[in-house]
Amino acid sequence: MTDAFYEKFQKELSLLSIDLEKSKLDKFYQYFEILVEWNKVMNLTTITEMDEVISKHFVDSLSLVKVVNDMDTKGYSMIDVGTGAGFPGIPLKIAFPQLQITLMDSLNKKVNFLNEVIEKLDLEGICAIHGRAEDLGRDVKHREQYDLCVSRAVANLSTLSEYCMPFVKVGGSFIPYKAGKIEDELAEAKHAVFLLGGKIEMTELFLLPGTEAERSLIKINKTSGIPKKYPRKAGSPSKEPLK
Ligand code: SAM
Repeated sequence: MTDAFYEKFQKELSLLSIDLEKSKLDKFYQYFEILVEWNKVMNLTTITEMDEVISKHFVDSLSLVKVVNDMDTKGYSMIDVGTGAGFPGIPLKIAFPQLQITLMDSLNKKVNFLNEVIEKLDLEGICAIHGRAEDLGRDVKHREQYDLCVSRAVANLSTLSEYCMPFVKVGGSFIPYKAGKIEDELAEAKHAVFLLGGKIEMTELFLLPGTEAERSLIKINKTSGIPKKYPRKAGSPSKEPLK
């Protein structure tokens, strides 16, 4: 691991009050190397420059600590819907190994990449599955099975709520990662969230450490069981978002 990687990452982590031991920082560096290597032959991310990967992928993923402050002690079960190259799920797993994580994506080649990362980094209590949220959300193995559901850069909040809320246990939370201010998106999705058994508890607006980029995390609590008709068939939540 280069000193520059270590110094920049630690500095930004300290702004989130996260202190990681060297063995975990080494795993992040290994992940960075595998990401850049695989990205030469498949389209995983447009962000490959080291400083940017640190801020926009690693630190951004870990900013969940702003709304869930006990991930280091609680063994929450978590699903990451539309994880792509593993964000935010893999950084969360490396930093907080107690989490039990399911990474999910509709593109199988991304799942192959995720399995390579899991194996090379020797991660346990994490798996990668291939499928669409609309289908897996109806599967009893996944429906209402998770304490937490996270998702970054997958869809607008109404569509995303229909993808994600089916996975959350009553009493658990769905926490979407959003860029910038989200008042309008939130207002548009409010009724959809209600129909899906959720209640918006809070939103946290902040600057991504070390940058001027605005981020929002929304904590949506699952207060009642999800009606049987949701999620609708694959494609419907994005074509006709719930209103
Ligand atoms: N979450 C990652 C991140 O922030 O870097 C990836 C974001 S990428 C823009 C969106 C990902 O969502 C893609 O990998 C895509 O295959 C996946 N995706 C889109 N619709 C999906 C669906 N209905 N079910 C599962 N995955 C989906």
